[in-house]
Amino acid sequence: MINQETVVEINLSNLKKNLDFLKSKIRKETLVMAVVKAFAYGSDSTIISKKLEKEKIDYLAVAYTVEGMELRDKGITTPILVLHPQINDFDKIIDFELEPSIYSFRVLKAFMNSKKLTKNYPFQIKFNTGLNRLGFNENQIDKLILSLKNLKPNFIFSHLGASEDVLEKSFTNEQIKKFIFISSDFENKIGRKIKKHILNTSGILNFSEAQFEMVRTGIGLYGFGNDSKFNDNLKPVISLKTIISQINHIKKGESVGYNRGFLSKKSITTATLPIGHADGINRQYGNGKASVMVNGKSALIIGNICMDMMMIDISNIICNEGDEVIIFDDKNVSAEEFTESAGTISYEILTALSKRIKRIVIN
Ligand SMILES: *Cc1c(COP(=O)(O)O)cnc(C)c1O
Repeated sequence: MINQETVVEINLSNLKKNLDFLKSKIRKETLVMAVVKAFAYGSDSTIISKKLEKEKIDYLAVAYTVEGMELRDKGITTPILVLHPQINDFDKIIDFELEPSIYSFRVLKAFMNSKKLTKNYPFQIKFNTGLNRLGFNENQIDKLILSLKNLKPNFIFSHLGASEDVLEKSFTNEQIKKFIFISSDFENKIGRKIKKHILNTSGILNFSEAQFEMVRTGIGLYGFGNDSKFNDNLKPVISLKTIISQINHIKKGESVGYNRGFLSKKSITTATLPIGHADGINRQYGNGKASVMVNGKSALIIGNICMDMMMIDISNIICNEGDEVIIFDDKNVSAEEFTESAGTISYEILTALSKRIKRIVIN
């Protein structure tokens, strides 16, 4: 039975396989933090987090406080790191037992000013080692230790900027070296050891020697290793499927879509699909850039992608209204391949998938 609408399929057995593969790259005792920010990379953060909790994941991470609050509302009890809290969030963070990342003096001050803060409340400190995005710098350690007073972070961490990039291997090694230097300086000055993490998915795959006490994985869990050599081991969790709503026969000289984006040089057959840029298929995929699969054959997206629809050329494909159309899946064409055609990355299309698309769990 084909779903007669656009669906995002979430394959939980692929999620489990990906988790097992990533775990095979690290020591047994290393903790795993699953990154479930941005609706678990466009899937469904509650469904994914519940499955990961069943698989005894050690930690979850979200970007923003509301994302963590939602998981707590849905009954998730695993520790949750909030990677990018804002200064007005801290009462809520503490109410919902979320663990904030403290990345600047401004944020530290807001955290310490929360009336809800108790003596041993867990939090983590983020250091900048070269991404130059968030985090304390190495020359701020002394002031940071003074400012922390009697607060005790339970982890310190940093983030790699190019762990998937073989040409930037020395940059990544420099980041890791800097993190080790910062960590030991920090530990010496506070007089105790502290747990650490720096690796993201590509870090786990390419720099597993720097796993410390925990690793963080997002994209790998969802089936992408940022390198085709992992395609046999990582399986896409998210498939995007739709159907043919209507078939049209276009004569030579006619146009298709808004602003006559496609002008037909010969008579062709098109199919209209119930998915558009409001669903996450941006206009960059239109006008002949990307294609989708209909009955095992590739069909080019033609004309401008509309808000709620797009049109494809099915002239050479035997198909009917109501037939299934695969935008990407775990067998025919991956989200990575689909995005390559438009010059972007799997992360972007996954996290852009609109919440209005129905989610279906496959086990
Ligand atoms: C998003 C994010 C991750 C996950 O990265 P992947 O490449 O998806 O594994 C890890 N750490 C931080 C700080 C992040 O922002």
